[in-house]
Formats: sequence, structure tokens, C-alpha cells
Amino acid sequence: MDSKKYNNIKLSVSIGKGILSFLIIFLFLKSGLALDLENYLSRFISNSYLLFIAFVIAVSAAGSILSFPVSYYQEFYLEHKFKLSNQTFGAWLWEGAKGTMVSGVIGIPLLPVFYYVLNRFGNLWWLPFAIILFLVSVVLARIVPVLIMPLFYKITPLENEELKLRLEKLASEAGLKLKNVFKFDMSKNTRKANAAFTGMGKSKRILLGDNLLDRYSADEIETVIAHELGHYKYKHIIINIIVGTVFSFLTLYLLALLYRISLPYFGYFSITQVSAVPILVLWGMVLGIVETPITSSLSRKHEYQADQYAVSSTGKADAFISTLEKLNEQNLGDKEPHPVVEWFFYSHPSIKKRIAAIRRVVQPEALK
Ligand SMILES: [Zn+2]
Repeated sequence: MDSKKYNNIKLSVSIGKGILSFLIIFLFLKSGLALDLENYLSRFISNSYLLFIAFVIAVSAAGSILSFPVSYYQEFYLEHKFKLSNQTFGAWLWEGAKGTMVSGVIGIPLLPVFYYVLNRFGNLWWLPFAIILFLVSVVLARIVPVLIMPLFYKITPLENEELKLRLEKLASEAGLKLKNVFKFDMSKNTRKANAAFTGMGKSKRILLGDNLLDRYSADEIETVIAHELGHYKYKHIIINIIVGTVFSFLTLYLLALLYRISLPYFGYFSITQVSAVPILVLWGMVLGIVETPITSSLSRKHEYQADQYAVSSTGKADAFISTLEKLNEQNLGDKEPHPVVEWFFYSHPSIKKRIAAIRRVVQPEALK
């Protein structure tokens, strides 16, 4: 079966990439190569902040070059092999370059801030840095849909009048203004279809892929919007920010502790040594393994809630079930992933479980 194969390959490549990255960073530190790079750069740069920025950029660039073949295989080759992508190689490269530029614009200014906090607060650096990251995440949640998404997609208000009327009713029941429903041209990159609820405050919006609008009936689209409105109704974005913040405080506290303890093992003596900082990345990967299943299961809980809302607000369980089935097929989703894989990685419950959960609530009502 194509979908099983596609998902198994994707999963194995991701896990392999993770393990390999960990080993490479580990060897980079342990072999003294990191320290050599710091010493080499310090011949040209005397200011410690500039040295830190240069070191991080050099290491990130090397990482991108090393991982390029894997990224190509994952994002380009595989998507074409399974006939999911519409992108030319040039377009894929350009999207990647834009992505790198955006993360540079957001990430590079954070580097001197991080290094300052490390120098100024010593072993307590994690606390002010966690506060800074929280503020950044709130700002990002507000600006991503308005300023960053448009760099990648053409986003236009929904035009279909009949659909608009239906959605207006649904949206006002959930307390959201309709002007915030947009479509975006995801079909330029992929044959997959998707919808999302994003943003905060004034930037709150529902985004519908054009692939979805073209191929699904008005009833089906209505249930997709209702699902997204469910995320709004249950305040999932705010909950995610709060949970994410608690996690980030905890993670940074543990990172600071593990970083300090493991410094001597890699031959360092101070937390402010520029080339010691990749140790944080290693520990970050380890902590990520612990956190992924927790955040995945919270996300799956939210999806179940939004599904229930989609059915209860529209009363169109059949249309919603057929939408989920069509979407799963179109996106080559695994209908029944291995339970451990689902528990660990899946941000959405598998299609089989979602449909079973919908049937569980719909049937008793139909019998009344
Ligand atoms: Zn959802």
C-alpha cells in the first residue's frame, strides 16, 4: 500500500537524520573540532559577541550543507516519487532559501541576546532567556499569519458567496468574524490539502488550502471550517502558548543544569565559552525525545475536541467523515499507524480513531 510505504520511509528517514545529527554534533565537540573553529575565527574577530554570532552561523551553514542530501530526499524526491508534489527543483530551492532567510532574520538578533544573558546571569541564564522566548513566541503568533505566511503563499479572502453565507452563520455561533477566513495557494507546492486556524488577537484567522476548496463539496468544506472553529472555541492556541511556556521554562532549566554538568566531559570549563554552546543542542535533542509524546498527545486531545465541535455545530457527521477519508487519501495518511508511532509522533489521531470517535457520539443521538 502506497500510504504505508510513504509514511514508513518518511519516519525512518527522520529518525535516521536525528540520530546522525546527534552523532555528528557529539563528535564535533568531543574531537575538539568545535574549539579549533572557535580559535580559528578568533584570529579575525576579537569581540566575543561577534565571535559567538560568527561561530553559530558557520556551524549552522555547515549543518545545512551536510543535511542537504537528506532534505532533498525527504522534501523533494519522496514527494515527487509518491506524486504529491507539484514543485520544480528551482521552486523547492527558492522556498528553502526564503525559509532560511526568515529564520535568519528572526534568529540572528536573538544570538547576542542569548550570549548577553549567559554572560550576565551565569547559571541562572535560563530564567531571563525563558522570559524572552515567551515574549518572542507571543509576537510570532501574532505576526506569522500576517507578515510571514504571505512571503510563502498568496492569501486572499474567500470568494464563494454560497459558502461565505454558510460560514458566516457557523463563525458567528463560535464568535469569530467571517472576514478572517482566507484561502491560500498551497496547490503551487503540493497536491495535499489542508486547513488551519492560526494567529492571535487581530491576526486570528482560518486558512483554507485552495486544494480543499476545489475538490470538496460545500457541506464538506463547512465541516472543515467547523473543525477549525472548534480550535478557536476551545482556545487551543492560547492553551498551546501556555503549555509551551511551561515546557520552555522547564526545558531551559534542565538544559542549563545538564550543560553545566557536562562541560568538563567535552573539555570546557566555562558556560560562556563560545564553542561549548553546541552541547546545548545535544541536550535539547535528548529532552525533545521526552517532550514529543507529551505535546503530541495534547495536540491529539485538541483534535478530538475540534472534531466533536465540527459535528455538533453542523450536524453533518457524514459529510465530516467523508471529508476526513478523502483528505487522508489525498494526503497519503497512514490509516492505522503502529500504536507506538502514533503515540509518539502523531499530532492528529489516526483517521480510523477519529472516525470511530465521531461515530461514538453521533450514534446515541440518532437513536433518540
Ligand atoms: Zn485540527
